[in-house]
Amino acid sequence: MSHASSSPGPEACAGGDGAGPVLETIAARAMTLGGLAIRRVLPAPGRRLVGAWCFLDAFGPLSFDDGRPMDVPPHPHIGLQTVSWLLDGEVLHKDSLGCEALARPGTLNLMTSGRGIAHSEETPSRHSGRLEGVQLWAALPSASRHVEPSFEHHAGLPVFEAPSLRATVILGALDGLRSPGRAFSPIVGADVTVEAGAHAALPLDPAFEHAVMLLRGAGSVDGASLRPDALVCLGTGRSELSLAAKGDSPLRLLLLGGAPFGETVLMWWNFVARTADEIREARDDWQAGRRFGEVKAYRGARLDAPPFVARPVPPSTKA
Ligand code: MN
Repeated sequence: MSHASSSPGPEACAGGDGAGPVLETIAARAMTLGGLAIRRVLPAPGRRLVGAWCFLDAFGPLSFDDGRPMDVPPHPHIGLQTVSWLLDGEVLHKDSLGCEALARPGTLNLMTSGRGIAHSEETPSRHSGRLEGVQLWAALPSASRHVEPSFEHHAGLPVFEAPSLRATVILGALDGLRSPGRAFSPIVGADVTVEAGAHAALPLDPAFEHAVMLLRGAGSVDGASLRPDALVCLGTGRSELSLAAKGDSPLRLLLLGGAPFGETVLMWWNFVARTADEIREARDDWQAGRRFGEVKAYRGARLDAPPFVARPVPPSTKA
């Protein structure tokens, strides 16, 4: 997916300070992306990372008879991994390496941009008429951010089970159970379901900072009710999370976590970098047709980069 930022300048995003548990709610912002209504949860105006997770868009649930609710033309990325995770429907990924993969519920599309890749994401011509999911970005740490680009598609992800609880491990590890997706920093992303009416305990790594977002149903985390379209930041220092499902439906939530990232990243458009010069070079390369290659399988024009205006970035923007 593409970061349709309204701001021409870069945003500095720092992680939490690792000072222990918190319970802070960040409300999503409603936006549109190529005609698709999305809720942008990260980056938030508080500008924080959760581990390496630096971007979270949620979309749907929606039903459609015709057309393509998702049609994001070819655009470039640097310095990050993208994770596409669907609750319903289909998204077709095509990239400049020549990879093409259909994301469906339960499958992971994981793209590592490294030094540069371009991709498109669209509703395929044969579809269910439904769409619901999230797209996430994980920032690559400095030592890995110039790796060669790659794409992975995984089905059959590991499922952690505890009384009244199941959690599909999307990326990283949960209680020692590891996703086959390649991760570049200590991280976890999981899709957690608690049976209707049940209380359950989810094991966490106390060295990680964590956050959760409600996907379906209703319930509470650590005694606090979960609001729709909001990210609940949990801080570090938790070895277990107490979850309760309310009402007649299971509670389903997205768990994000990771070791405090320890680096401040600069985010602009679809780039995660460290300096304004890197962003300017990546933008120039995209506009000039260098570095990123071509998404040959996509029918249609690619996205143009917006104008880039470097501006002073505040030294610390911890929320
Ligand atoms: Mn993208």
